Amino acid sequence: MNDENSTIHEFDFGLIRDYFSFMERQGPGSNEMTLKALGFIENLTDESKLLDIGCGTGFQTMTLAQNAPGRITGLDIFPEFIEKFNENVVKHNLQHKVKGIVGSMDDLPFQKEEFDLIWAEGSIFIMGYEEGLKYWRDFLKPGGYVALTDAAWFTNERPKEIEDFWEEAYAGMGTIPEKTGVMQNAGYIPVASFVLPEICWTSLFYELQDKAEDKFLEKHKGNKAAEDFVSYQRYERELYYKYKDYYGYVFSIGKRI
Ligand code: SAH
Repeated sequence: MNDENSTIHEFDFGLIRDYFSFMERQGPGSNEMTLKALGFIENLTDESKLLDIGCGTGFQTMTLAQNAPGRITGLDIFPEFIEKFNENVVKHNLQHKVKGIVGSMDDLPFQKEEFDLIWAEGSIFIMGYEEGLKYWRDFLKPGGYVALTDAAWFTNERPKEIEDFWEEAYAGMGTIPEKTGVMQNAGYIPVASFVLPEICWTSLFYELQDKAEDKFLEKHKGNKAAEDFVSYQRYERELYYKYKDYYGYVFSIGKRI
């Protein structure tokens, strides 16, 4: 198996988790973009209930908590991330309004119409954009909001190399108008969508990945699967720098009808 022909689906979950636990955030994004998206959400109060799905170690959750009223539950499938998340809650002195729990995004342990806002940076691709939007909708109050980031194509046509890579890694990746249509059909008003600036991938994500990889490789010295995973990540990064005019991350904000 080499980096050219391995696929993301072949790697062991434990390794993926370990790799990303060396990083402050587990997907592209920034505090500025989190706050920009938050600016579109209306009617939050101290009584509001917020849910951050696929919260990871909570980088964006802490920003949200410091800038939005209400209580926030962070949910992630990996207990190790939730452990770090809850350490971050204490570090930021947010115990009164934030807590992390282990759970799966496709089997939410909540009541229907429980939340005023569902947040999901870089996680909906795991369920699929359409499936996630449809399933999560039931957990929002009517008039509640969803705010999430996901990969999207910027152009109608792309070079084959990048199209093939993403087709394999994330078959559901559409263009921005396609995704807006999906959101509308899933029962939301598409309130806004905006493209994350390149810096959210470059200095705020990929460059940190570079550093995290050194630590990860040292821990897993001689482990072929770990080395292959790093090669895969490096290949993904290389492709980004080569083809970043064709795709990126998009913040989408929708209001449940
Ligand atoms: N929101 C964070 C993390 C994004 S990475 C950030 O932007 O930095 C995607 C996250 O989804 C990871 O933390 C991963 O552990 C989590 N995840 C993967 N499968 C999941 C599932 N089925 N349910 C909930 N979380 C999941």
